[in-house]
This record gives sequence, C-alpha cells and structure tokens, in this order.
Amino acid sequence: MKKMKRVIELIKENNKFLIVSHKHPDGDSIGSQIALALGLKKMDKDFFIYNEDPPTDRYSRFKRINLINTKKQDFSEDVTFIIDSASLERIGRIKNEIDYEKPIINLDHHVSNEKFGDINIIKPYYSSTAEIIYELLNKLTEIDKEIATYIYIGILTDTGSFRYPNTTSHSLRVASKLVNYGVVASQVSEFIWFTDPPARIKLLGDVLQNITLHDKFSIMFVTREMLINRGAKEEDTNEFVDYGLTIENVKATAMIKEREGGILKVSLRSKNDVSIQELAAEYGGGGHKTAAGFTYKGDLKVLKKELENKLEKIVN
Ligand code: 5GP
Ligand code: MN
Repeated sequence: MKKMKRVIELIKENNKFLIVSHKHPDGDSIGSQIALALGLKKMDKDFFIYNEDPPTDRYSRFKRINLINTKKQDFSEDVTFIIDSASLERIGRIKNEIDYEKPIINLDHHVSNEKFGDINIIKPYYSSTAEIIYELLNKLTEIDKEIATYIYIGILTDTGSFRYPNTTSHSLRVASKLVNYGVVASQVSEFIWFTDPPARIKLLGDVLQNITLHDKFSIMFVTREMLINRGAKEEDTNEFVDYGLTIENVKATAMIKEREGGILKVSLRSKNDVSIQELAAEYGGGGHKTAAGFTYKGDLKVLKKELENKLEKIVN
C-alpha cells in the first residue's frame, strides 16, 4: 500500500503526466489510459496519452478515443505512467522518447514485469491493469460514469467478457461497482463485440476452414493473401485465436498471423490446466499463463510444424 501512497503523492505534487502503453494497444491499454487521464483531468492535471500504434477500429465508437496520440507533441512531462507493459521493449520506439530523469510509474498485471519503473505496482492476480486504475482513482477522485466505462472496457476485454481463467471475485466485484457508477454493460459489449465489419466474418470462415485440429490442440493461420482476398485488415483477425480453444478436449491453441515485412505474429491461448507462457518466452515473447504471444521472423510452414511439435508435448 505504501507504493500506492507514493503514486498518489506524485500525482498530487505534479501537474503534467505522460501516459504510455504497449505496441498494438488492446482494450486494457486503451481503457486504462483513458480512465487514468479523465481522472487526472478531474483533478485539473494535464496529461498526454501516447502509444506507438493507434487504437483498432472497434474502439472508435468510444467518444474519448481521440485522446490517444501516436505522435509526440511538445509536452515536457513531470511524471510518466507506463501501463500494461511487462518491459520497456513493449512500448516500442517510445522507449527512446521518455525523460528518464523524471519519475516513471509502472502499473501492470504481468507476472513477468521487469519492474523498470521508479515505482512498480504489479498485480499478477488481477485480470487487467484496469483493476489497478480502479483502485488508484478510487483513492484520488470521484469515479463517474465515463471513467467507469473506460475501466470497464479494460476488464471486459482482458477477461474475454468474464470467460477467461483470470476472471476472479475481484474482477467481478470491481465490474459490479462500475455498473453501479452507471456503466451500461450491454452497450459497451455491443460497441466492442457486435460491430464487426463483414470482411472479418468472411475471413473467419476462411481461417476456420484451414484449422489444423489435433486431439488436444489446434493451430490456425492467416496469410497476407487471405487478408487481401477478403479486403480485411490485420486487426480484423484479433480474437480469432479464441475459436481454436472453444473445441472440446482442446487445451491449447496457436494462431499465426503473417504481418507485412515477413514478420509472423503468434497468439497462444490455453485452458487453465495448461500454461503456454513458457512457450511464448522460448520465442522471446511473453504474456500470462493462458494468454501469451510472440513475434517471429521466418517461414510460416516451418514455424507451424515447430509449434505442432511443441504443443503436442505441452498438452500431453
Ligand atoms: P495477443 O495474443 O492477444 O496479442 O497477446 C496476449 C498476451 O500476450 C498479451 O496480453 C501480452 O501480454 C502478451 N504478448 C503478446 N505478444 C507479445 C510479444 O510480442 N511480446 C511479449 N513480451 N508479450 C506479448
Ligand atoms: Mn492487460
């Protein structure tokens, strides 16, 4: 609790806060960053939210999404928050734009967090960084409907709508409090999950057609060609990996996406009795026990074969 007190002091004593999160920001990054920013604004503080990559289209329906910048402006922060990022590598090029003379506050829920901050609040048993933001803002200001909505986005997306093993009594309790503050849960779900572009659904059909299904694991892939054929964007494949795990008896799954420039991005998921975190680490990636990822430079077929061999061992 001492650390939280120190964070609160730093916020009260300072005026300008840079708020950074990881490359390809997800709902937890975006929700946590905006909620924190709106909380700071209520305290008449100045903030600048800065990520390497822009939010994906599914978050475009939320009014405050334009608070997120991908180009640095003259800001000269007093304090930097780094959100939902296990290492400084995860924030990409922004790593080279931070003033390390100023205090860095590291707020995260990855067990592998490298504690690169001057203050590190790391809660691996929380579903999302948004749960930490909730605790912090609860001590600082009044949480209104709008702030509550952005915190809720973080919890909803990182728990896969309260389905993943990281859904705890704490995440449900915080979510319940957020609904008490006015969050319209059905509307948040609709904005995020029920607004898919048709190209995404067509592409999902292609990906499912090509699934490799073993007794206890599955592998899916999506090539640039498959994307282009359907006029889809890479972000349209987000969460496809979940389908690989919905199958009875399947304990682990991998989804390989071909990115521009020959880079392969792999998402790994597992059911609670299996961990795929170590597999991601083997390839220089990271994440959590049941949701992890890495990037790889090389041939898709070769990687797929390699993952088949490794997954076979993990699930048996
Ligand atoms: P996703 O598969 O949805 O991209 O990522 C799942 C989780 O794995 C994320 O929450 C993140 O913690 C982790 N992750 C994904 N890609 C990478 C990566 O390239 N490096 C590291 N260190 N972690 C990753
Ligand atoms: Mn997260």
